[in-house]
Amino acid sequence: MRDLSQIPQGVHTLWAQLSERAPSYLVGGAVRDLLEHRMPNDWDLATALQPEDLLRLGAETGYGVTATGAKWGTVTFSTASGPCEVTTFRRDGRYQDGRHPQTVTFTNTIEEDLARRDFTINAMALSIEGTLIDPYSGQKDLDQSTIRTVGDPVKRFQEDPLRLWRAVRMIGLDHAGHSLTLSSMTAETIQRYKALSLSVSAERQRDELCKLLQTPHFDQALRAADDLGLISLIWPEWEATRHFNQRNPHHRYLLHDHNLMTASLGPTPLLRLAGLLHDIAKPQCLVLDNDGIGHFYDHAEIGARYVRSMLTRLRFPLHTIESAAMLVNLHMFPWEEASLKAQRRLVRTIGEARVQELLTLYRMDLIATGTVSQWDNEDAVRQAVASLFDWGEEPPTFGKAPPLAVSGRDVMSWCKIPPGKAVGQWLDRIAAWVDEDPARNTREQIAAFVQTSDAALSHGKADSSQ
Ligand code: ATP
Ligand code: MG
Repeated sequence: MRDLSQIPQGVHTLWAQLSERAPSYLVGGAVRDLLEHRMPNDWDLATALQPEDLLRLGAETGYGVTATGAKWGTVTFSTASGPCEVTTFRRDGRYQDGRHPQTVTFTNTIEEDLARRDFTINAMALSIEGTLIDPYSGQKDLDQSTIRTVGDPVKRFQEDPLRLWRAVRMIGLDHAGHSLTLSSMTAETIQRYKALSLSVSAERQRDELCKLLQTPHFDQALRAADDLGLISLIWPEWEATRHFNQRNPHHRYLLHDHNLMTASLGPTPLLRLAGLLHDIAKPQCLVLDNDGIGHFYDHAEIGARYVRSMLTRLRFPLHTIESAAMLVNLHMFPWEEASLKAQRRLVRTIGEARVQELLTLYRMDLIATGTVSQWDNEDAVRQAVASLFDWGEEPPTFGKAPPLAVSGRDVMSWCKIPPGKAVGQWLDRIAAWVDEDPARNTREQIAAFVQTSDAALSHGKADSSQ
């Protein structure tokens, strides 16, 4: 008997209603997580009821129901505790495209349903009375932190190569404070059949990578993905970083180790991703000086272009692509030497929140060189940056710097120009002038600046036309 008290009321009520009518179980990751005393991400139920029975039950009991994948037997119920996917017990037929089985056959037994699942730790079911159905010794594997395929690993990875990424993602889960490990046969099979992942859609791989980046031991999972060659398969650019010697006394590690270590220090998925990719362009930018020391001019800017292309190919959303590319582009910003004007300009351009992330990436990068254990000046730099602007009581919303005291409309009226590019150029000129001394950000001072510069500019124009 298991303790089911963690299960949200809405899910439990639905489960009880299903169980009154036919055998119905909690399955998959939810069981795995409950056994580990962890709150599951989502709740999946498997039932002997047919999809049409499920739709009828939904109508009778007043749930919102959607036939998410009626062909595969899945109906989503909107419960008081959120959506819950209910799938009719099924047996997969042959796989045609390595993604969806060609046919599915509904069955009456939970054991057959569990047989089609990927790993033993994901192939357990729990009855509403709290009995665990565990035909593949998933609990034993969980206790031993082992990820093992249900049945023949070659066949299982061939059926659906996304399981290669799912296996690596599961490494990042926690058991008793440690990551999980692949059974030796599972690891060997992934190594041997990794190229199958090329046939998986970009979206599905992206989703697994994003989930991986959110696991507690994402650093171990990323390292395994690198060791097994999966990262080089999604991003061929990564391969050049593997075992690349940076030939620089400020770096103790090979480039891929440095990148993995930088990622491992990231507090958020975005910073982990940016950390992983921040030096991606270094191999292409290597220049050796007369002493044989490696330098990497422009690797941040070029890296940002790589990152844009790499994340676009994997169908990341635009805001993630732009955020990661921006962090990579600016990861070399010289915080300790930059003038106040340069710092102010940066904060104004990218916003305070992004600057905080950039500072964190700077620290991650520095520590991951393996030559220092902390960024000594971090607090001083953060304080200096915080004092650059008076943000007022309400910090500006994400990405916004304190506004200029004037608008494009003012510029148009003062300079007597129509809306267009010239107005934006004026506002840039004003922002640069204000960045030199924020006390200039008053309407009167800016008006005077615009009027004198306008006069100077038109004078220049008149001169040059003579
Ligand atoms: P998460 O904690 O992210 O929800 P999960 O293991 O529950 O992890 P889901 O995508 O929610 O992953 O899938 C639910 C269950 O469905 C899995 O635990 C597994 O039993 C089964 N499953 C999912 N994807 C596959 C697959 N590609 N092949 C075989 N079984 C799968
Ligand atoms: Mg799940």
